[in-house]
Amino acid sequence: MKVTVIGTGYVGLTTAVSMAYLEHDVTCVDVDETKIKQLDLGNMPFYEPGLKELIQLRQDYLRFVTPSREAVEHADVIFFAVGTPANSDGSPNLTYLFSAVAETLDFIRTKNSPTVLVNKSTVPVGTADQIDRKIKEVGLEDRVKVTSNPEFLRQGRAIQDTLYPDRIVVGGDEYSSKLLYELYAGIAEQSFQPPMQALRPVGYRGPEYIVVDRRSAELAKYAANAYLAMKISFINEIANVCDRVGADVTHVASIIGKDSRIGSSFLQAGIGYGGSCFPKDTRALRFIADTNGYDFKLLSAVIEVNQSQKLIMLEKLQDRLGELSGKQISVLGLSFKPGTDDLREAPSFPIIHALLSQGAKVRVHDPVAMDKAMSLLPESVHFAVSATEALFNADAALIVTEWPEYTSLDPKDVVSLMRRPLIIDGRNALQAANIHGLEYEGIGIGSKR
Ligand code: NAD
Repeated sequence: MKVTVIGTGYVGLTTAVSMAYLEHDVTCVDVDETKIKQLDLGNMPFYEPGLKELIQLRQDYLRFVTPSREAVEHADVIFFAVGTPANSDGSPNLTYLFSAVAETLDFIRTKNSPTVLVNKSTVPVGTADQIDRKIKEVGLEDRVKVTSNPEFLRQGRAIQDTLYPDRIVVGGDEYSSKLLYELYAGIAEQSFQPPMQALRPVGYRGPEYIVVDRRSAELAKYAANAYLAMKISFINEIANVCDRVGADVTHVASIIGKDSRIGSSFLQAGIGYGGSCFPKDTRALRFIADTNGYDFKLLSAVIEVNQSQKLIMLEKLQDRLGELSGKQISVLGLSFKPGTDDLREAPSFPIIHALLSQGAKVRVHDPVAMDKAMSLLPESVHFAVSATEALFNADAALIVTEWPEYTSLDPKDVVSLMRRPLIIDGRNALQAANIHGLEYEGIGIGSKR
């Protein structure tokens, strides 16, 4: 099938390469010329495990271009995977999506067979209906169809999640859902060829192909992210109670997670969620509820808890060190989670700014996100070339992102490097063997492991 993917970010590029892996003929479009040039040269615009290798493997099925008539006019399916960032009031900014749609409609005006527009961006309920109205305005209603196909991939595991999804959700009419089934057949029926079987998760049973109305598909994406964010904020509140009553949140989480009605995922206590999705999608869902006359109180609490949880490490640090002015603090990890260099809404940023505002000297390290972070942090922040350099002579270290580089540190080395071997573990990531001889505190687990 001929597929065009508009937007070559995390979602677009992963979608494109997965479609190429299924041997569809894929054109990737982006307004960012530099990105397109780099992709054409084989350089990735961001870090995502396995993406570069898969693009190389399927280079004959992929091409990278800036917007043009040729990029869209012959496509059977056109995916939209452009950003929908939050406006200051929390509402999703749909400017990129609507300008991409307008451009596409201009270009496909001459096409005869039906084209299916597939929206993968996370958008408010009713967006597909709005696109439909634009299609009618230009008189293309007999030739262009709109579907919602929300994306559930996780950065850092994007390829695996796309080839081995829990579900493929399509909101649209019979024609579109059948065409999309054909497109996704390799994944829906798990019939694709090696080598990607190596990524198959243990116990994976294949995806469910779910066809619903467009509004339900659009809302399901927000509901999924809000629910996951709620689990995180819930366990973080339990962790804060644990800290006050001397219980261990890892035990509590493990016990409640064994209940099949609850499940064990997303019950790791820490300093809260970040990234490009959970913060913006929770705010967007609250905005959608609000503007439709519903006060979503639970979601407001989820958001509020997450805001304050980011700074809980600072409180712990002050309890141990007192005044932070002049203290040398190392921050280990900048990206919002391991496996990605994405810094959007990363908890590291408010933590670093809070440290600086209290007069601390801050040294940071991240295995992949330093280049991106340099232009975003104040000059007074020192970028260490290694975790070892970051820890040297430090009065304390904060584990903000649980990269393996930090969780595998030898405690003897840490003791010899740091002025005071105090580790505040914002992700409860260190094991007992890694904290031997250290002054250690996690979130909701006290000082031991
Ligand atoms: P991104 O910011 O990484 O990429 C978006 C890309 O779209 C950019 O390269 C940008 O240059 C391009 N773009 C903008 N306007 C364009 C236009 N008119 N024509 C062509 N290209 C254009 O975004 P992302 O993280 O991939 O997210 C895309 C959407 O998917 C968002 O709605 C997001 O909420 C949703 N989503 C993201 C994830 C994730 O983990 N990142 C997961 C599920 C859903």
